[in-house]
Amino acid sequence: MEDVAISVVCGQCRTALTENPDATPETREPCAQCGSTARSLEVAVGAKVSTHAGIKGKGRQLQTGRPAFEFVTREDYWRKTGEWRWYEVFIDRVRNIYRKVVRDRKTGQELYRCEESLREHTGHGRTKLPGRRKK
Ligand SMILES: [Zn+2]
Repeated sequence: MEDVAISVVCGQCRTALTENPDATPETREPCAQCGSTARSLEVAVGAKVSTHAGIKGKGRQLQTGRPAFEFVTREDYWRKTGEWRWYEVFIDRVRNIYRKVVRDRKTGQELYRCEESLREHTGHGRTKLPGRRKK
C-alpha cells in the first residue's frame, strides 16, 4: 500500500493548516496568520508501486499532534457486478465529518455517497479506515 502524507500549508507564509487537501479556493478559510487563501500541498510519498492505483494519507494538527484528517482513495472490485470502482473515504476529525463516496471507475459517476457526523459514525463502533481486502 502506498503511503502518502499530505499536509496543507499556507501558500504565502507557509503556516501549516488543518484543511482538506481537496478544498477549493471558495471553501477555504483565509489563513489565520496572513489572511491568504493561497495554499500549497506538501506531499511526502513513500511509494511502492502496486497493481491498482490507490492513495492514502493523513494530516496532523500541528499544535497537538492529533490526527486532523485521513483519507483513502482506491480501486475496489465489486464481486456483485464484476466491476472496478473508485472508493473514497474521508475522515475530518477537526470538522467532525465522515464521508464515503463510491464512483464508477470509467465514468466517474457517483454511485453511492454517505456523509455523516463522525461522532454519529463512531457511535456504531470504532472508526477505522478500511484496509485492503484480500482478493
Ligand atoms: Zn498565511
